[in-house]
Amino acid sequence: MRGTSFETAKNPMHIIILGQEGVGKSALTVRFLTRRFLSEFAESEEMSYERTMTLDDRQVSLRITDVSGKSLQTRGASRELLMQADAAVLVYSVTDQSSVTAARHALGCMRKYRPSVTSVTHAQTSGHRRGQSSGQATSGMLLPLPVLLLGNKNDLDHVRTVQRHKEKQEWCSDYTLTSECSARDDAEGVTSLFNNLIKKVLEIREPLHRSGRKLSQGVLGSPSQLRTTIKRRLSMFSRADRVATL
Ligand code: GDP
Ligand code: MG
Repeated sequence: MRGTSFETAKNPMHIIILGQEGVGKSALTVRFLTRRFLSEFAESEEMSYERTMTLDDRQVSLRITDVSGKSLQTRGASRELLMQADAAVLVYSVTDQSSVTAARHALGCMRKYRPSVTSVTHAQTSGHRRGQSSGQATSGMLLPLPVLLLGNKNDLDHVRTVQRHKEKQEWCSDYTLTSECSARDDAEGVTSLFNNLIKKVLEIREPLHRSGRKLSQGVLGSPSQLRTTIKRRLSMFSRADRVATL
């Protein structure tokens, strides 16, 4: 099994689920975690769940936070929440146009703190204009935040008010993937979309791990180089010992 930074529960991949109240955030979260559909989910407060799963031979520890819809305006734009997240699912309902507007607004706020690669350049230039440090936008830890913009309840086609999203399931260059699903009727679809998001996070992290490994090899050398260095150092000590005892 290949190692990732998410292989231990100490450092889980954090996915946040955001969207207006009633769009189906809790239904989607529970569907993904348990494969069951709960038609009524009493809890409207923020809830976090932890789970370890295997995906493409990798073990991934997840923390999923179902952010309360009431706090979309505040928490959706919360710097603290966004800086902790590795990925976000931004949910709207295909039966409610206002939920699309809220999701788009939240996406705009997200991109302020966690720019995509394309908007880092913009953030750098506007940062200069505002007299901020451009390093803020390019600091090592500021990785792109992949966002799944998800139109839920597409089983309710007869009361749809939002235009159907063309099914392409491709990531845009700004790390956004737009798609539709039904937490009620399509367990496979929900699982596949969440898995797609998790894979995107792993893909973003992969080059960092590779360069991290190279860096530590560069400092210490490969295991065989390290053995040779230690042997050479130890032989110097034993020579010095011999000289001292003569
Ligand atoms: P939240 O406030 O965003 O967490 O929304 P909930 O998960 O509590 O869902 C709100 C309502 O929408 C509940 O009555 C759910 O049963 C219903 N719901 C959630 N997902 C779907 C779906 O895919 N299709 C249909 N028809 N109803 C759904
Ligand atoms: Mg809920």
